[in-house]
Amino acid sequence: MASRTVLVLAGLDPTGGAGLLSDISLLRKMGLNAAGIPTSLTVQSGRLVKRVEPVGTKYFNDALTSLGDTFRIDAIKVGMIFSPSIAKAVSRVLRENQEIPIVFDPVLTSSGGTPLVSERALPSLKTLIPQCTLITPNLLEFKTIADLFGIRMKKLPDAGLALSSLSGASILITGGHMPGKRSWDTLIHEGEVSIIKGELKGRRDYHGTGCALASYVTAHLVMGDSIAKAIVAAKRMLEEKMDGKVRSLDGRWFLSP
Ligand code: PLP
Repeated sequence: MASRTVLVLAGLDPTGGAGLLSDISLLRKMGLNAAGIPTSLTVQSGRLVKRVEPVGTKYFNDALTSLGDTFRIDAIKVGMIFSPSIAKAVSRVLRENQEIPIVFDPVLTSSGGTPLVSERALPSLKTLIPQCTLITPNLLEFKTIADLFGIRMKKLPDAGLALSSLSGASILITGGHMPGKRSWDTLIHEGEVSIIKGELKGRRDYHGTGCALASYVTAHLVMGDSIAKAIVAAKRMLEEKMDGKVRSLDGRWFLSP
């Protein structure tokens, strides 16, 4: 079978630990063809995102048109969307590709506290999320998104069900930041809530785990797995990469190559 192609639309992290570079390399290692367009450029170290520069929409659109002449796209993974203009351009891509799996990791803030989406671009999540098959927010991101959609329920499963029903997207609320070694995620899919359990080997703080999880899920979806099966497989792959083999000079743990 010809190799399938995943299109990654994400921020460029020069450390290679998160965003476009990381996503492309792990998708290729899984035997998939991966192409990507940066939605923004960042200046960062292992610990800190120091600056974000959105890419121009002319560049983004020209790159997309040329890619469209190069590969047929079988799935899309979306990451950091910093500016309203890029959000609009990405939304157009998603609208034109509603028949393939689309996974969106709606990153709002880096672990170091730098906003990865501008205030002005936040409302565009209301357009982007309903265009996705699956979104993978962490708990904090989920709360912000639920608020944006006017969902006020206190209990997580109820709020998740409401957001999934309103948007039509499945939702994986990641719990990797829970205390202890448990890494339990909540999946809301087709009106049902399930807990997907996982266990971390240690409590090290890793860079880029959210990006990698969403990429692994996208890879498994494009290979034909169901959403639940893709998530279980993705969590296992991610846990294996958190093996304490790569550490930056400023003390941040990176996933193994
Ligand atoms: N840079 C880019 C391009 C990202 O997409 C992300 C997270 O998704 C980060 C930096 C921040 O990663 P972390 O919070 O793991 O440091």
